[in-house]
Order: sequence, then C-alpha cells, then structure tokens
Amino acid sequence: MKPQHRSHSLKKKKVKTPSGSNRIHFKSKKVKKSVCSSCGGILHGVPRKRPTELKKLAKTKKRPQRVFGGVLCAGCTEQKIKNKLRETNVNS
Ligand SMILES: [Zn+2]
Repeated sequence: MKPQHRSHSLKKKKVKTPSGSNRIHFKSKKVKKSVCSSCGGILHGVPRKRPTELKKLAKTKKRPQRVFGGVLCAGCTEQKIKNKLRETNVNS
C-alpha cells in the first residue's frame, strides 16, 4: 500500500482483477446529506462535498441565501418566523 493510501479518509474496496490477482481500489468517502436541525428533513441547496472541495466554493454556493439557510429547512424557517411574530404581538 502506498503511503498516500494509508489514510482513513479513503474508502477501500477489494477487487478481483480479470488476471486473478486481488487488489484494493481507493475512493474518497461520500458526504452524508445535510439535514434540518429541527425536523431532520434533507436540506436543499447544500452541496454534498468533502471539506477540501467545499473550501473551493463561494460562500453563496454552500447554502441558501435566507435566514437559517443551511441549518433549517424552508418549512421550519417559516414556522419559526411565524411563531416569533406571534410571540411579539402578544407581548405588545
Ligand atoms: Zn425542518
């Protein structure tokens, strides 16, 4: 195994080649889909990339441009804003 392949950030797959020898194929791990912190639903507009690839992206391409973008889903954001407004209306 080459030194660059002795990393836990790589996924290993044992493959039997047509010649009959066993070899290991290396692939970078896939990133999980980002989820809403409130309901656990899948977030849209958030790229599924490793940190090194995310660094190359612009901030505007990493999450939606709204409040709680990349943290809460659209439905939960709407509910949160509504609840906050209703709270303030009761107090005043
Ligand atoms: Zn949600």
